[in-house]
Amino acid sequence: MPTIIPLRSGTTGTCEVILDSGLPDRLIAPVKFQCHYELVEQDRYYLLSYRFHTSVKYICQRCLEESEANLKIDNTLALCVNDGDAEKLMSEFEPVVIKGKSFELEPLLVDELHLSAPLKHSPEECIDSRV
Ligand SMILES: [Zn+2]
Repeated sequence: MPTIIPLRSGTTGTCEVILDSGLPDRLIAPVKFQCHYELVEQDRYYLLSYRFHTSVKYICQRCLEESEANLKIDNTLALCVNDGDAEKLMSEFEPVVIKGKSFELEPLLVDELHLSAPLKHSPEECIDSRV
């Protein structure tokens, strides 16, 4: 079930998130965690902060073995209502354009995993680098 968050200042909460589609190919679905989020209104946009800790299973892109890693995410996005504002904010924040008065949290977290999920074992752990 998606988490729908109203675009309103001071909105904050913790939700159970289960991501099982749209994930990077190297991750083994589902990815589950508790996510804390907070919205703060700015002049013409909102800052969305979210944080979560989780353990993810993934396929190491070097040795192709299944592996597990802990992920600690703490990030802030700028939610804008139009493309012009998004462009102006690009140098300072990661802007996301929102259509409407609320948004779905999950797709933003899927995007986060595309950026943050591990790619490879550390060299000591990787089977390929031991041979
Ligand atoms: Zn490896």
